[in-house]
Amino acid sequence: MKEIIKNSCINEFDPNALEEIQAINKIIKVIKPNKSSEKVNIKDALHRTISSSVRASINVPSFKNSAMDGYAINLHDLKLNKFKLSEIGVSFAGKPFRSSLRKGGTVRVMTGALIPKNADAVIMKEMVSKEGIYINFPQNIKKNQNIRFAGEDIKKGETVFKQGDELDFSGLSILSSLGIEYVDVFCKPKVSYFSSGDELVATGKKLQQGQIYDSNRYLLHGLLKDLPVVFTDLGIVKDKKLHLVNKLRRASEKSDIIITTGGVSVGDADYIKDALNEVGSVGFWKIAIKPGRPLAFGKINDSYFFGLPGNPVSAAVTFQLFVIPAINRLLSQKRKKMILIKAISKNKLKKKPGRTEYKRAILSTINNKTYVETTGLQGSNIMMSMLKANCYIRLSADISNVSKGDIVEIIPFSTKF
Ligand code: AMP
Ligand code: MG
Repeated sequence: MKEIIKNSCINEFDPNALEEIQAINKIIKVIKPNKSSEKVNIKDALHRTISSSVRASINVPSFKNSAMDGYAINLHDLKLNKFKLSEIGVSFAGKPFRSSLRKGGTVRVMTGALIPKNADAVIMKEMVSKEGIYINFPQNIKKNQNIRFAGEDIKKGETVFKQGDELDFSGLSILSSLGIEYVDVFCKPKVSYFSSGDELVATGKKLQQGQIYDSNRYLLHGLLKDLPVVFTDLGIVKDKKLHLVNKLRRASEKSDIIITTGGVSVGDADYIKDALNEVGSVGFWKIAIKPGRPLAFGKINDSYFFGLPGNPVSAAVTFQLFVIPAINRLLSQKRKKMILIKAISKNKLKKKPGRTEYKRAILSTINNKTYVETTGLQGSNIMMSMLKANCYIRLSADISNVSKGDIVEIIPFSTKF
């Protein structure tokens, strides 16, 4: 339920924390798109971003063809011949019958086959009957039915991709249907990352008391692998300012974006902000969201820096909310709008106004109604809450407690078939 946000003990208002959208806007404003591009085979262009527009040099389809297996006819002639014609030829996909229809004649056609210029309908094979050398046609025929016209998918001269468009499987299909083998795309941004924390141990080693396995580098590997970037894992760095300073300085020599996790809060061993101040500049470091309030954004030489929180759920959410738009911006992509869907909450949700919250949840449809239910414990260290989820519930800063049955906004995770 919406409330006016005031700074008090019963809310989470922090005057120094930036509002989520403001933070994204700041990031977008600071980042300059990197215009270097390369030519790649379209097979290597999946998820890449177009750097110069692509125009169609042919029509798709390039010739008038049949949408069905059936018979090509001329309606006027069909009526003159009382819906009875004889077969004068066969046209296959790739083996066309090149002549025109003659009076009283029809051409048997397969799906995708060229049809005669003077044909103005194709009748499905299943709709006709044979009577000796004649074929009987039904009378309810519409002009142009079952005909695919030249250019009905893509017109010659049309701009099919603009700078900043992302290629997915349909993009690859479109490019190849135009006979295009190579395409100009923006170079992949270079991303480096490391984890920071004295308690962190790499997998494969034995844990001593108080230590934990470093999972954030794998989380980032998983998130980055789906994006058009080249990335380098720089390992684990101890909670020592000097170590962090040196590592950040070296990372900035070869990265467009540097990401760290951990050490960004206000604890006694949190040195990321100080280190960033020493090697570069801090843009901001607190955002009014949950999970993920501490997040340092800044610049180190020509690299953009993201100091994400150490808790894995916070690291994942802040990566999606802030780092992905930054990568998209480097690639000159258009800003993507969040897709929010309304659903009925199956739970009572505790919330104080002041921060935008992202709860991990499961979306389901029952009797045409959309419901959402949180995935158990919602602590920012509880990664199982993310594993089980297929959406986030997004509760904006002004919202307080939600009752069971209330309508909430959700962001579905992308659908995989
Ligand atoms: P910090 O931001 O360094 O205060 O860390 C917050 C919490 O996240 C602590 O419980 C850390 O142990 C945990 N954490 C920090 N880095 C990692 C990491 N790379 N993998 C798993 N947990 C981490
Ligand atoms: Mg730490």
